[in-house]
This record gives sequence, structure tokens and C-alpha cells, in this order.
Amino acid sequence: MFIEDELFPLSALQHFLFCPRQCALIHVEQIWEENRFTAEGTVLHERVDEEHRERRRMSRTEYSMPVRSLALGVSGICDVVEFQVRSDKSYESVVPVEYKRGTNKETDMDRVQLCAQAICLEEMMGVVVTEGHFYYLKDHRRTRVEMTGELRQTTVTTATNVRELLESQRTPRPIYVHAKCDRCSLIDLCLPKSTGVSVREYLETNA
Ligand code: SF4
Repeated sequence: MFIEDELFPLSALQHFLFCPRQCALIHVEQIWEENRFTAEGTVLHERVDEEHRERRRMSRTEYSMPVRSLALGVSGICDVVEFQVRSDKSYESVVPVEYKRGTNKETDMDRVQLCAQAICLEEMMGVVVTEGHFYYLKDHRRTRVEMTGELRQTTVTTATNVRELLESQRTPRPIYVHAKCDRCSLIDLCLPKSTGVSVREYLETNA
């Protein structure tokens, strides 16, 4: 179990799975550069924040709910958490909902982020969270993600790897990967083409 001062931001899990160097630049070197993709994400989350809390008789919805897990060692904010409540006031279900711009294209890094939220809610509320949802703004559609043992294990392993990276205080060398670097908000600070190695070079030297 970690203590509050040892928790790292839940978003670091997603950053690490996208690119360990990006994770270190943001969470070790404290660099952050906004681009179109991150700006759209920020606007989206602000829009969710502006929503009011909804309470109906047997259900409750919380927006921008702070969460943390001392077991996983993370803290963060859930966009939305939906509660279904039984007549004896116990929870029938607790479901984190993550808002995404665009259409259905969630990746492992999105699923790990959602699973970390589920683990936080379980620890804080003493419930079992069996699923989470993504809500895609563009097509107004939800997808359901089951909190399988495999996804939970991937989330725990990722949290361990992130912690090792943060504790090492070392930023990995850049590896230029066209598909992700060209979307990365840090590309102008990272300069992967001029200072990094290509994927082919990396694979050859690490084969
Ligand atoms: S530009 Fe590429 S190598 Fe650099 S942080 Fe972003 S994804 Fe990683």
C-alpha cells in the first residue's frame, strides 16, 4: 500500500502506454505542450464538468469525481460515475464512464485508464466494478468494457512500470514512430527525428 504523497496521476498510465518518453517528459520533466488533439480533449472534459449532478430515485450520476487507489498508487478524476442504488441503499452497480472525442477507436491505453478508475472506485467504495463505458461524442454512442482479470493485470503491470520510470528520474531516448509521433503534443520539444532512433534501428540494436 502506498501513502497519499506517493500517488502519481492516473493519466500517467495512458501516457506511458502511448510512449514511455512522453510519460517521462510530462511526469518527470514536467513539460506539457497542448496540440489540437489534447485541446479538443480538454474542451470535452470541461463540457462534461459543466454538467450538473443528476439524482433520480434509484440512480445517481457524479461528474468529475476525484478517485484514488492506495493499492495501485494512483489518483485522478473520473469524467462520470453512474451509480445504481438498491432499496436498502447499497450499490447495485458502479460504472465509470470516460468521454472520448471522435468515434469508437479505443485502445489498450484507454481501457487501462478506465480499469484504473474502476480499481480506484472499488477500493474507495468497497464495491466490485464489473464494467466501464466509453462515450463517443461524435457518434453519440457508448461501448462497454468488461473489467476482466487480464485487463486488471495489465493495469497493475503498467502502474508498476510507470512507478519504476518515475522513480528512475530518467527520460528514455526518443524512437520516431510516424503514426504516433505525428499526433504527439510534445513532438516539437522531443524532436524524435533529429535526436532519436528509427523503429528499424531500435529493433536492429535490440534484436
Ligand atoms: S514525439 Fe514520439 S518519441 Fe517523442 S514523446 Fe512523442 S511519441 Fe514519444
